[in-house]
Amino acid sequence: MAGIYIHIPFCKSRCTYCAFYSTTDLRLRTTYADALCREIDARCSALSVAEPHTLYFGGGTPSLMSLEDIGRVLSHITSFGLQFKECTIECNPEDITDDYAMALHSLGFDRVSLGVQTLFDVRLRQLNRRHNALKVSDAIKALHRAGITNISIDLIYGLPDETLEEWDADLNRALSMLDSEDTTFTHLSAYCLSYEDGTPLYRQLQSGIVKETDEEQELSMYRLLCERMREVGFEHYEISNFARSGFRSIHNSGYWNGTHYIGIGVAAHSYDGKRRSWNLSDLKRYLQAWGRGANLPDVTEQELLSAEDHYNELLMTRLRTSDGLDEKLIDRSFLAYFKTQVQSFLDNGDMEYDGTTYLISEKALFVSDSIIATLFL
Ligand code: SF4
Repeated sequence: MAGIYIHIPFCKSRCTYCAFYSTTDLRLRTTYADALCREIDARCSALSVAEPHTLYFGGGTPSLMSLEDIGRVLSHITSFGLQFKECTIECNPEDITDDYAMALHSLGFDRVSLGVQTLFDVRLRQLNRRHNALKVSDAIKALHRAGITNISIDLIYGLPDETLEEWDADLNRALSMLDSEDTTFTHLSAYCLSYEDGTPLYRQLQSGIVKETDEEQELSMYRLLCERMREVGFEHYEISNFARSGFRSIHNSGYWNGTHYIGIGVAAHSYDGKRRSWNLSDLKRYLQAWGRGANLPDVTEQELLSAEDHYNELLMTRLRTSDGLDEKLIDRSFLAYFKTQVQSFLDNGDMEYDGTTYLISEKALFVSDSIIATLFL
């Protein structure tokens, strides 16, 4: 089993915090869809062998693509007879109209991930997001009317100078949407803002225009998030991800449980259990390569994973989740090392062990990266 990820690198404007690879040159969208179709055709045997069970359009902003272009890419994929358990598209709330939502549903999408980030308009403007808070509930209503009820929203906390009270209010606004059938959602992801080098927000930080939220405050915000999500009955199944029972993201769970995936499009990554490969983050080269019918090596790089890499990857992915790490999966030659390293975290309660599975306890999930780094080879 595997997942297919299709990367759409277009954004109408750049958000101030974003360091992802994307372009605001929207003129290239149809040419890009053509190139995606060619890459899909070229990789059809890998796609069929992998038996993909999820499809995910991510970006960038996939909802900036015309329905015609999305439909063309989709039909290239489904022409190989593939059936998906979950078919997700990331959307900007601003792009969702009744017509667009209905068309997504009829194309076969059964899950939408909405980039909400915050429900305060002043913050949305600060982040240079296109939508406003009202547009979020309008978009969810349109999706429900179209028959798409598996909806995820993304939030960001730790915004410049954000207080715990402000985050509490933002969360309350989001969670109040659960009270009504036409604005309810099934999944929530919340990420702590990071100031990435090269972004406008990073420059604002460097020049003193904005101030970073301190780590203690961020931890309080994370704890509040966990508490609120527990109160509304969502499972906390990954560091930053919460879902109603039965609504975990199947595609994203694949990244954390070792499922193979095939990434199509510029900057997309793939994993086949032995090696990681990635298309270069260079749209011009990607279009030139697929425009002239070149082979994968023109735009793809890869690395073969060593036993040590596999061990590190296993820890990095499994220990992010509430399912934890089954010790049977650890290479026997590294098990003794792992057990020695993990002991201090078991002793101080940052990790738990039930005789077969290791977990990072919820209170320590916020610092899981540093715990996992200590366990690395
Ligand atoms: S956050 Fe999303 S919408 Fe904003 S610039 Fe980055 S990829 Fe584009």
